[in-house]
Amino acid sequence: MADTIFDLVVLGGGPAGYTCAIRASQYGLKAALIDANDRLGGTCLLWGCIPTKAMLFSAEIWDHLKHADRYGIDIGDVTPKLNWKGLLARKDDVISRHVKGLDFLMKKNKINAIKGYGRLTGPAKDGVHTIEVMLADGKTDTVKAKKVVLATGSDARMLPGYKPDETILTNYEILKIDEAPKSLVVIGSGAVGVEFASIFKSFGAEVTILEMLPRMVPAEDEDVSKELLRLFKKRGIDVNLSVKDTKIEKNKDGVLVSFVDSNGKAQTKQAEKVLVAVGRAPRTYDVGLDKVKITPDRGFILTNEWMETTEPGIFAIGDIVAGLPQLAHVGSMAGLVVAARIAGKYAKAVNRTRIPGCTYTDPQIASVGLTEAQAKEKGFQVKVGKFPFVGNSKATIVDAHDGFVKVVADAKYGEILGVHIIGPYATEIIAEAVTALELEATIEEMMFTIHAHPTVAEALLDGFSSVEGMAVNV
Ligand SMILES: Cc1cc2nc3c(=O)[nH]c(=O)nc-3n(C[C@H](O)[C@H](O)[C@H](O)COP(=O)(O)OP(=O)(O)OC[C@H]3O[C@@H](n4cnc5c(N)ncnc54)[C@H](O)[C@@H]3O)c2cc1C
Repeated sequence: MADTIFDLVVLGGGPAGYTCAIRASQYGLKAALIDANDRLGGTCLLWGCIPTKAMLFSAEIWDHLKHADRYGIDIGDVTPKLNWKGLLARKDDVISRHVKGLDFLMKKNKINAIKGYGRLTGPAKDGVHTIEVMLADGKTDTVKAKKVVLATGSDARMLPGYKPDETILTNYEILKIDEAPKSLVVIGSGAVGVEFASIFKSFGAEVTILEMLPRMVPAEDEDVSKELLRLFKKRGIDVNLSVKDTKIEKNKDGVLVSFVDSNGKAQTKQAEKVLVAVGRAPRTYDVGLDKVKITPDRGFILTNEWMETTEPGIFAIGDIVAGLPQLAHVGSMAGLVVAARIAGKYAKAVNRTRIPGCTYTDPQIASVGLTEAQAKEKGFQVKVGKFPFVGNSKATIVDAHDGFVKVVADAKYGEILGVHIIGPYATEIIAEAVTALELEATIEEMMFTIHAHPTVAEALLDGFSSVEGMAVNV
């Protein structure tokens, strides 16, 4: 490999890295992609977005089967049984199909995909960077390129003093467990924590959530947090907020989790397993940053809007970037921006205020733009509308009346500042709100945008109209 000089080498084959390499090749650049894993796809495809959503789909079917009679389906004396091995096999099949798809895309785009662990060796010499690669067979090679894109992703954080094993789990271990646990404590109520809580509740586990902050899904609008709390409690999930001093003790039946509750009272919870979902740490500790002029900030890499680091010729994208939400679609968009910049083509920088965030719980959550509190903090005169799904006919059809669409708008010009949804298909219909914000649409424009009937998306039409107190269906 040492003789070839690539236009760019990407370190890390997750969604940020592979998207960047593919787009670079579409621009006619010669790209290499190095990944330490035996399969491409990164956290998202192998241990994150895709497997969890495959499991959630099974959970959704299971939930519907439990109430089949409600939909006019008589399953007689048959008691549906959860086939955990079958469920995991289906999840693995979904992953495998997409891993194969990525291998195909590497070939189609003539990307040199290298299996190995890469490290920077120093600044560019005569405009060429050298990456040292430990290959899977233990041998070392070097890859030379004019530009380097770091996309090494993140690892699950653990509570200090604990290590993951078969009872203390992170997203990695929980996706491989032999059987669905009968009881589960989830530490952390961000997207990862509440998604697993939702999945295992559907499969019949007794689920307890421990969150140190005063509300669940703390990145979301406060009204959404309150609604999720209400609906999770309705589903029988035990949610404990403002908890402190969480400790885990293993015993013969699993784990005893102790904590101090919001009233300052010591509590314990016995469970088969505990999932620690307290955030993701950037994987930047062993990629040779010390050899170049990049000083990470608590592990995260600082970049400018074009994802350039402080070392000339080296870019960073994805979960390792400071200040960017750790989401697959953010990483992949950053990858597209970098590929365009390296190719000298038109690019639009990632706008950090127009990033959709999706949480695939039951009910789903999706949002884009400013929360009501953020808009007020920024000095906007805010006008807010809220439309409950109970007024949406498609929501009745799919038997999912919980939740609402909340729209935050600027009172003066009517510009839409934020859209916050909790309810059916929230993660699908948010795309319209993202486009509306991207095009700086006003409430008035959206009130005269035709939405097909009957669709859940019509709740957005009513949501926008509710800002003017004119939702039709409520
Ligand atoms: C349970 C869970 C569910 C999630 N669900 C969603 C979701 O629904 N939607 C969403 O948008 N996001 C979701 N995420 C977040 C998403 O997975 C990440 O934001 C995304 O994977 C980040 O992409 P990335 O390319 O930056 O890094 P990663 O996907 O982590 O990929 C990094 C790659 O770099 C490789 N690598 C690391 N170091 C080296 C090295 N030195 N040399 C070579 N290769 C290296 C790794 O092997 C890995 O393949 C979820 C995360 C988790 C944990």
